[in-house]
Amino acid sequence: MTKRLLLLPGDGIGPEVTAQARRVAERLADLGRLDLAIEERPFGGAAYEAQGAPLPAATLEAALASDAVLMGAVGGPKWAAAPRDLRPEAGLLGLRRAMQVFANLRPAICFAPLADASTLKREVVAGLDLMIVRELTGGVYFGEPRGIATLPNGQRRGVDTQVYTTGEIERVARVAFVLARARRNLVTSCEKSNVMESGLLWREVVSDLHAREFSDVRLEHMLADNAAMQLVRAPTQFDVILTDNLFGDLLSDEAAQLTGSIGLLPSAALGAPGRPGLYEPIHGSAPDIAGQGVANPVAAILSLEMALRWSLGRPDLADRLSAAVSRALAAGARTRDLGGALTTAQMGEAVLAAL
Ligand code: NAD
Repeated sequence: MTKRLLLLPGDGIGPEVTAQARRVAERLADLGRLDLAIEERPFGGAAYEAQGAPLPAATLEAALASDAVLMGAVGGPKWAAAPRDLRPEAGLLGLRRAMQVFANLRPAICFAPLADASTLKREVVAGLDLMIVRELTGGVYFGEPRGIATLPNGQRRGVDTQVYTTGEIERVARVAFVLARARRNLVTSCEKSNVMESGLLWREVVSDLHAREFSDVRLEHMLADNAAMQLVRAPTQFDVILTDNLFGDLLSDEAAQLTGSIGLLPSAALGAPGRPGLYEPIHGSAPDIAGQGVANPVAAILSLEMALRWSLGRPDLADRLSAAVSRALAAGARTRDLGGALTTAQMGEAVLAAL
């Protein structure tokens, strides 16, 4: 059966890094007899310039008809003055909303040859391989009421509402439990049930789902502030961290820093089973190095690895790809951000050679 991969190169270094991911995808399809149809569409600032909208209707249609979408990055100073709803970032939010991707997966892996690149001691990060599952479409970033009002006494008051329903918690928790089964079988659910009602509900719903459907998976509950501390104290204790939108925003950035360069880190956003996933490096369009051919393509290549695993039905090829990236790094392949001198294309070639 043909699998459809849609590439959205976007802006800045986006096209540079997705070009390398494309070469790797084509090679893997050959090696693994994967019938892969790859298509590219304009997106972000590039689409705004060419077609007057950051998310053209044809791009969205192609995304919804695909099995996986692999995005580069969007944005840049060039479009800072564009109307808010036509900015590249508006296109990305629109795409996430239309694809209904409610679970954000952010792995933090410490590749052995790079254990010294972290700001933490080698013995703390060596062997690190954790996955953060963050709820992406609910919680305090979306809850109503919200706003800033002026009170009768002249003071101003800002309000945000942290709100979760049973259904929203269950569907993201289910993703975490399923992921854990394919990993080391441990889910650590993080909230603030000691001081927040929504946290209390979160803990109850996760526990109920666990008892009903996932009692074979080990479940731990941890207060989110303690999780923030444990992430820098002993990060290898974690396998899958399940958390809400706000705490996930903070914990995933903290975890990203455990591993060295931002140029290494992929992410996935998943919706209901059977719907296309959205895969992207966590870095942005890096206008400071765009056009120089020096960006690290590994985050984009590892985003392809996640797509193979979670949307294209080929975890075997995903394993093969992540082993190839490890071997390339072990052999000394380094772009500038890792202290080396390889170009973007040469780094792509190093991964192809390792494959
Ligand atoms: P950034 O991630 O683009 O860059 C931060 C720093 O990391 C820069 O010094 C950059 O050179 C470096 N860097 C990033 N990716 C790299 C790579 N692959 N290899 C080597 N070095 C790399 O973040 P920023 O500078 O805050 O944002 C730049 C633009 O990107 C902004 O317009 C922002 O809105 C946008 N952005 C987009 C996304 C996205 O598309 N999902 C995410 C974050 C930022």
